[in-house]
Amino acid sequence: MSGLADHLRKPPRGMRDWLPPQFYALKHMEDVLSKVAESFGYRRVETPVVEHFEVLAKKAGEEVINEIYYFKDKAGRELGLRFDMTVPVARVLSYNLDTPRPVRWYYFTKVFRYDEPQHGRFREFYQFGIELVGSQSPRADAEVLQILTESLTAAGAASYVVKINDRRAVDKMLESLGLSAYRDVIYRALDKKLKLPREEVVALMTRGGVPLDKAEKIYDMAGEAALQDAVDLLTRLDPSLGAHYAKLVRYLEVSTSLERFRFDMSIVRGLDYYTGIVFEAFAGEYKLAVGGGGRYDDLLELYSGVKTPALGFAIGVERLMEAVGLHSVEKPLDYYIYIFDDEAYPHAVSIAKKLRKAGFSVAVELGEKNLKDAFEYVLKIGTRYLIIIGRKELERGVVKIRDLQRREEYEKSINEF
Ligand code: AMP
Repeated sequence: MSGLADHLRKPPRGMRDWLPPQFYALKHMEDVLSKVAESFGYRRVETPVVEHFEVLAKKAGEEVINEIYYFKDKAGRELGLRFDMTVPVARVLSYNLDTPRPVRWYYFTKVFRYDEPQHGRFREFYQFGIELVGSQSPRADAEVLQILTESLTAAGAASYVVKINDRRAVDKMLESLGLSAYRDVIYRALDKKLKLPREEVVALMTRGGVPLDKAEKIYDMAGEAALQDAVDLLTRLDPSLGAHYAKLVRYLEVSTSLERFRFDMSIVRGLDYYTGIVFEAFAGEYKLAVGGGGRYDDLLELYSGVKTPALGFAIGVERLMEAVGLHSVEKPLDYYIYIFDDEAYPHAVSIAKKLRKAGFSVAVELGEKNLKDAFEYVLKIGTRYLIIIGRKELERGVVKIRDLQRREEYEKSINEF
């Protein structure tokens, strides 16, 4: 067979096509998640997929910089594809400084990372997320976490856990162990704690220069606890941090269910821009994080020159769909109108117009199929009703309607449509 070579029939590596049933599943997610964000007063924002490379590189962090799709346009401008929406939103706000604070924005859109594709890891994927800009209050942290939990519930995740940590707590712990100089190495090692066995995580630290006994101590300290139990530990590390978390726990207790949250010192997250609370969400049996976020109080200043506290989260939409088992949504055609000849065409068009106006989807036979083939076709594409306009029926001012679900057939007067 000629035509495109096999590998060219598939999209570029790490990317996927969305055929209608898959697209409607995605659209369903978009509707459900947007509704949650909108109900909290968040408003939708969109930016170009292409950004100035300099804007992207400013705060991506070493690991992510290597994942940026980078290119020059024909005029030699250095550009890149956005790897998240937090950076573009920070850029937008850098020239919209008078946007009333707090800013509550959300997005549902494509982002790109030149990563090694594997299960749940793509080069082009969708993120749904929110940005809450201009507040330092633990109530802002609580609001973002509440929206995260409500989004997961609305998407159909029956069981999930949100693991919380705070970079300030980790930094304090490193300070007390005299290991502040190894922060980057330790962060990168902790980030692998959920994926790699103990020896390997410890080895990542020792190879970076951390003494073995201290590496082991850090590994063991980075355990999991109930969020309310972590308040004591945080207070010991830093009383003001403890006070912040005591409030957060009180707020979450009333706004959502506290047992959904765990404190876990191994959650540090890959992106460089986080400054305070960081968190990751896991749904059901699905191993990979379906979402993550945190506070980035310095990011906006980097772009606008104005210190602006902010936080947000992003959900990986494909991963969430996988976790809740949502793969496709069939959207059957409501009506297919079959006619035998051009004489019936005006009637077909007129009935079709009326049905479309009433909100139904309607397709009219193009004149290349006999009734048997048309019948097979409508069954294959999924159709609710087949309308047949025959000459004998037309003379009596009626059409035949076949209900393909109930397998019944009846007549209806043309005037009734
Ligand atoms: P991040 O922007 O890295 O905080 O990612 C937020 C969420 O996006 C993660 O929790 C994942 O669910 C999802 N995500 C991140 N990277 C990928 C990827 N390469 N492919 C698919 N989903 C991803």
